[in-house]
Order: sequence, then structure tokens, then C-alpha cells
Amino acid sequence: MSKRLQGVGGAPGIAIGQVVRLLDIPNQQIIDANPEAALTRFQHAQELVVTRLQRLAEQLRTEGRDDEAGILDAQSLLAEDISLTDEVQRRVRDEQEALEPAVSATITQMRDILAGLDDPYLRERAADIDHVGQMIKAALHGTLGIQREIPSDAVIVAADLTPAETAELRGGSVAGFATAVGGATGHTAILARSLGIPAIVGLGDALLDISDATDVILDGDTSTLVVEPAQHEIRIYEQRIADQNVRKQQRQSLRDQPGQLADGHAVALWANIGHPDDALVAREQGAEGVGLFRTEFLFLHRNEAPTEEEQYIAYCSVLETMEGRPVVVRTLDIGGDKPLPYLAMPTEPNPFLGVRGLRLCMNRPDLFTAQLRALLRAATHGDLWIMLPMVATPQDFSWATQQLTVVAEALQSEKIAHRADVPLGIMIETPAAAITADILAKDVSFFSIGSNDLTQYTMAADRGLAELVQQYPHDAPAVLRLIACAVEAGKQAGIPVGVCGELASEPEAAIILAGLGVDELSMTAVAIPEVKERLLAITRDEACRAAQRAVDRVDD
Ligand code: PEP
Ligand code: MG
Repeated sequence: MSKRLQGVGGAPGIAIGQVVRLLDIPNQQIIDANPEAALTRFQHAQELVVTRLQRLAEQLRTEGRDDEAGILDAQSLLAEDISLTDEVQRRVRDEQEALEPAVSATITQMRDILAGLDDPYLRERAADIDHVGQMIKAALHGTLGIQREIPSDAVIVAADLTPAETAELRGGSVAGFATAVGGATGHTAILARSLGIPAIVGLGDALLDISDATDVILDGDTSTLVVEPAQHEIRIYEQRIADQNVRKQQRQSLRDQPGQLADGHAVALWANIGHPDDALVAREQGAEGVGLFRTEFLFLHRNEAPTEEEQYIAYCSVLETMEGRPVVVRTLDIGGDKPLPYLAMPTEPNPFLGVRGLRLCMNRPDLFTAQLRALLRAATHGDLWIMLPMVATPQDFSWATQQLTVVAEALQSEKIAHRADVPLGIMIETPAAAITADILAKDVSFFSIGSNDLTQYTMAADRGLAELVQQYPHDAPAVLRLIACAVEAGKQAGIPVGVCGELASEPEAAIILAGLGVDELSMTAVAIPEVKERLLAITRDEACRAAQRAVDRVDD
């Protein structure tokens, strides 16, 4: 009888194939003649890892996959990180520790610091440290890289896979992969999603009991691994693969059609991006605009803030790719929960309630000014809108408008080409902004509802805690009522209202939002085709009724 294992996430798609187990890193310890010989071996291993990561990153870059290459670049910086090198040297030289345990202890120490942080994004980066550690340990034994021939229908099974291994496996066109550890937002899962490899992570230790050549079905859509499937299960999944292929083709045919309901009522479908290259994917998926460019990603993984010029180039690149379509650029949304290594910031007891988003920019007007200058200059190249995060009061907004005026005057007097009349809007992500949306709507050019933060602040439930997220979901009536309040205020003032939180990407929620009167939904680009298809199948009246039911819902 078949057995099922449940994972915690991965990448969509179904793979039917045979298990290929990747070899574990040998456990034995090499005895070095003296500490200096050990450290030379360590240095050599670091160089091997860096060279391999850079080679793979280069390969990805030549395919136009800059984002994926960036993950490997960041890991290559970690492999040579000065604090890693210094601590291993100290342990081997001063504490006379053997090399392998010294490397293991240092990696554990570094990962524990990250794993203890509040921010889920940074917590997941602890996995990057583990991956770098795994690669260095493999290199110490001369076993870096995939160590065996991989047949093409292979479902790779491993305790963990590094992003480098994931990138390497893709070249061999594997059917899919499954790992015992890992989280849905880890880099290995992110990479699998963008490379289009069906995958499941976090399947637990039971995965490692499965032997080589066992038949499996990997269902990345539900994160389920079916071990030794019965013939009828294989037939069901084969049929699902065939159905998915047909649906993919149908959705592809809708690509150039604008988002709308069955009766023609327009609901624009825009994309959320974190990097200029994501705009290409947005176009591929038929995005009618960019509804959220999370510019903080331009500021992460570096030693200093990007210059005005670097930002200008990044913004121009997105505008160019979008060819005249609207591009909503959110100003720096960092702070508290998402620290930047080069920004000295006090430790806060409640980082989500602290100096983040626009509040951080108020403390660092130099960063804000450089960003506004780059934005106003780039605005001459397309339809650029500026959006402010974490606005709670009209004073927050008027502070930002004053800065914008000063920046425009400076550019004017410096005779630098720019556009001063750029639409300036706000995210509605604090309950304060939603409740006073009628007041804010008088001054702003548009609203975009950040349902992720709006949910965590409304429900008083940390968005990074999985069990709370389930108990206090983003489509709870309390959140929907605040959204309705903002939409109504937007309509009264005649300004467009969008939603750019995750809520917009869920087809059922998209129907409710359309029924509430939202003009535009912005989501991860790959979600657009399915949302488009679902909206097309429903009338405005049906959407309004679904919205009413959702707003009035009493959960049992
Ligand atoms: C949100 O809060 O819904 C949002 C879109 O912003 P972020 O997820 O980047 O905080
Ligand atoms: Mg937010």
C-alpha cells in the first residue's frame, strides 16, 4: 500500500519518478599535521566553494536569471565572511580544536544568532549559513557538488539541498526533489519555484528511510509525497498532469487580455516585484502594471545603501520593461524587523511597532532624499507612481510631501531632468490609516492596501507565526471591513484603490476584493493567470454577494 509524507512547502508541479538519494557528506575527521596545515585546508575549501558558487551564478546570469544568481552570490560572500574565517582560525590556532569540529561549531554559532531573530526573512537566512557550512565541509573532503549520475525521471531525495545543488540539478532536468528539512521561504524552495522544478521541503526524517529506486509521486501543489503509489494513484496523477497542461495553455491564451469580470467590469491585474528583472516575468504573465516594487531588496545583501544613480538605473529599467504601463514604486520599507547591516539602529522590544518604513526614513532623510531624487528623475521615462509604506497619520503623509517638494526644487535648480507631478499614494496597512481613510484620501493620489501588515496589526497577530496566521487569517471579516472602509473613502474622493498584499493573489479572495470595489489587484506575477481566469468566470453581482457574505461571516 502506498504511504504519504506531508511537507511544509516547496514549488508547484507534479513529478512521477524514481528516488535518487544524494550521498551524505562523509562524517570522518581528517587529522592535520598542525594548525597551519588545517587552516590551509580550510582556505582551500573556502576557495573551492566560492569558485563553484561564482561559476553557477555566472551560468544563471547568462540565462538572464539575475535573481537566482544573486542568491548564489550572497552565499559566496558568506563563504568568505570575515567573521567565519576569524572564528575558525581562533578555534584552530588558539583553542587547538581540530578543523572539522571548529567549522561545525562556528557555523552553528552563526546560524543560531540569525535563527533567534524576530524577522522570518532573516530567520530563513540561517539556512543559508547552514548551506555554506555544508558546502565547506563537503569541500574539506573533496566531495563538493553532485556526486553521482542523475537519470532524467529522478526524484531527488536528500536531507537538505543547497541552492547551488538545486541550480546544478536543474541542468540535468530532474523530475523533482524532496528534502527532509527546509521552509517554504528558504532560498532552496525559492530557487526551485523560479526554475520551475516541482519540489517539497520539510518532509521530516521519515523521508530519509526511503531507499534508492523507490517509485514516488511528488505533488508540489499540496506538498505531498506519495511513496510506492498504486497503479490507480499513478493514473489519477497522470490525468492531473494532463489537465494542468491544458489549463496552462488556456490561461496562456488570456495573457494579453486585461483583467475583468464576466460582465466586462475592469479589475486591473498588476504584479509585485522585488528586483528590476522581475518585471520581465511580470510581462510574461500578462501583468498590466507593477503595483508594488519592494525597493528594500535593492538595499539588502550589500555593505552600503545603493547610490542615487544605481537606484535611478534600477527604476528606469523597470519602466522600460513595462513600456508605458504604470509602475508603483514603494519607498524604502525597512527597519525594526528588517535591519540593514550598515544602518545603526537601536534594538526595539516590538520591532513591528517600531521605527520601520516611512518612520525610518524620517530618521534618515538622507536615504529618503536620495531615493526621491532617483524616482523623480526616472519618472521622465514612464508612468511612475510613488507609494509610502507604514503611514498612520496625515502628518506622516505631509512630511513626505514636503520632502518631495524640496527634492523637486533642488533638481529644478540643478537643472536635472525630472518630473515633479508624480502621483504620490500611500499603503493602507495600519488600522489607523484604514479608519481615517476618508481624511487621508483628500490629499493622496491613490491607496494600495497592504493586507499582510493590515492583518497583523488588526488581529494583533505576528504575520511570521504560522499558527497565528491560520487562526487570524487575512480574509477575516475584521480585515475585510477595514478594506471596505478604505475602498469607500477612495471612491468618495475619486482616487484608485488597489490591494498589493498576499490576499490579492488568492483567487477566492480576489473575487471578494473585486466585489468590495477594489480597482486593481497586485500580486506575485505567476498568480496572475489563475486570478484572471477566476475573475472572468464571475459577474459583478456575484462578486458583490461573495463580498457581503465574507464581510458578514461568523466563523465557527
Ligand atoms: C503588506 O503589508 O501587505 C505589503 C504588501 O507589504 P510587505 O508585505 O512588503 O510588508
Ligand atoms: Mg507591509
